[in-house]
Amino acid sequence: MERIQKVIANAGVTSRRKAEKLIEEGRVKVNGKTVRELGTKVSPHKDTVEVDGVPVDKEEPVYYLFYKPKQVISAVKDDKGRKVVTDFFEEVEQRIFPVGRLDYDTSGLLLLTNDGDFANLMMHPKNKINKTYIAKVEGKPNKEALNQLKSGVKIDGKKTAPAKVRIKSANRKTNSSIVELTIHEGRNQQVRKMFDAVGHPVKKLKREQYGYLTLGNLQPGEKRILKPVEVKRLK
Ligand code: URA
Repeated sequence: MERIQKVIANAGVTSRRKAEKLIEEGRVKVNGKTVRELGTKVSPHKDTVEVDGVPVDKEEPVYYLFYKPKQVISAVKDDKGRKVVTDFFEEVEQRIFPVGRLDYDTSGLLLLTNDGDFANLMMHPKNKINKTYIAKVEGKPNKEALNQLKSGVKIDGKKTAPAKVRIKSANRKTNSSIVELTIHEGRNQQVRKMFDAVGHPVKKLKREQYGYLTLGNLQPGEKRILKPVEVKRLK
């Protein structure tokens, strides 16, 4: 017997945390009866679990590396009808969802999968997966600003963990610079808030690297399947 949110996550419907929300919202049925109790245990093979009336069954896990263009929502649907990342995966049969999120206006590397356990593992803070961002920021951060970013700045009342940072180039004419920042935390709008905190607002943001994975030759809107060995190396 397994906890119902685990069964839903393993079936590739969504992450475990989101599965809990579905249960609380009364969208999950076991053998035809709505279940709102998060601790409910079910037998994945004997019991019928449905989400929004659709039975869940275990899918083959799949993993994609995607170059998210800007102005796309990191979700499987959007109430306001804006483009979402899964619009780029219409031919994929599995119920995939993004591992974490990039802001609407951020482009770059995003993983998608139907493997809820994998998604949870990637997002767990103890895993400390490095993510590298290329930011175009206003002005040129001086040594002090760079040191602040490196050692940690206070955002939302809590200091950020140590980061790697370097200026790649600066343009006096446009009063902007290109800065590479590597962090392992994944707080909400963390990169934008970190640069705001040192007085250099972000004008453009792209995620270039996730763990050891890079975008390679992909163009915005393109994707590739991750091989099992690549997935293994991330864990
Ligand atoms: N930090 C941000 O500010 N935005 C992102 O999309 C990702 C990291």
